[in-house]
Amino acid sequence: MNKIPCLDLKGQHAQIKKEIFEAFEKVYENTAFSGGPFVEEFEKGFAAYCGTKYAVGVNNGTTALQLAMLALGIGPGDEVIVPANTFIATAWGVSHVGATPVFVDCHPDTWEIDAAKVEEKITANTKAVIGVHLYGQPFDMDAVNAICQKHNLFMIEDAAQAQGARYKGANVGGVGAMATFSFYPGKNLGACGEAGGLTTNNEAYAKHLQSLRNHGSVVRYYHDEIGYNMRMGGLEGASLGVKLKYLEGWNNRRREIAKRYHAEINNPKVKMQAQPEWADSIYHLFVVTTEDRDGLMQYLNSHNIFPALHYPVPCHLQKAYAHLGYKQGDFPHSEYLAAHCLSLPMYAELTDEEVGHVIEAINNY
Ligand SMILES: *Cc1c(COP(=O)(O)O)cnc(C)c1O
Repeated sequence: MNKIPCLDLKGQHAQIKKEIFEAFEKVYENTAFSGGPFVEEFEKGFAAYCGTKYAVGVNNGTTALQLAMLALGIGPGDEVIVPANTFIATAWGVSHVGATPVFVDCHPDTWEIDAAKVEEKITANTKAVIGVHLYGQPFDMDAVNAICQKHNLFMIEDAAQAQGARYKGANVGGVGAMATFSFYPGKNLGACGEAGGLTTNNEAYAKHLQSLRNHGSVVRYYHDEIGYNMRMGGLEGASLGVKLKYLEGWNNRRREIAKRYHAEINNPKVKMQAQPEWADSIYHLFVVTTEDRDGLMQYLNSHNIFPALHYPVPCHLQKAYAHLGYKQGDFPHSEYLAAHCLSLPMYAELTDEEVGHVIEAINNY
């Protein structure tokens, strides 16, 4: 058996190379390198896919979060509630506008943001809650939204890992005030380069985001506010336009692999993310936990399987946030996850044989 990594992008890109290169050629011929028609075409397609009125392409998922904060008027002195167990960029979006991320622990079984715990963190300075569709599985948006409405807060979906995941039957991206996406190459929908985006049903937010990403400008060389250069590149937009057509198929293949992991992994030492019946994950990552994580890692490595860790240190214990004064023990479920998580191989091009090999190795552990 060949080495089986956690993620391998080569198979996917070999399949679509010709089509992607043809799209690049069109960008080149039009010299449409920054924003432009290919980005706009992708934005239309992505909004339709998410079932939202608007999609706004930007240069990465971290700036998408920052722009969400700016468009909602969040800044210095404001607090935004963020899960402790997420990729750090969720918190960067808050810090980059001078606001303070207030971390909250996850539910011990779903590993998602927990509405009851969110409510305990609300102060007079709280402006918003960013929920993360972690590992591609939607969080309970109705529950979090109910708390947000009660306290007059914005809810933002960090959907960086969840392009095409369904919450109560509908694709994510349209429930919060806005949703942010990453099209980093390793995400389920990844550009050939760096890219990100936002979706919203609110026209005023969409227009504001379009201006903010483009130097605060609607009419060229007239700047209505201090803006940013956070446009999506044309080559990135064109590659995303090609890949969007394949996304549903790739996601379904991941769902198929996850179904086998769920059905066939029967080692009692291994636990999986609990999945409420309304959550239809796209399995950006397939994370399991086990008491002796390093032991399982070594065992799988010796069977040519190379899982990864998402994420080994929770946000509240990162050195970057030492000034906020959190300590070990503040968020036990997030800390447990960080110390015991292991991401199994998960990508659409895994063969049935490879999936079987992973399952067999785990069951023999
Ligand atoms: C990847 C990711 C981001 C950041 O996106 P980039 O495009 O890498 O800047 C933000 N939040 C989450 C949850 C992510 O997984």
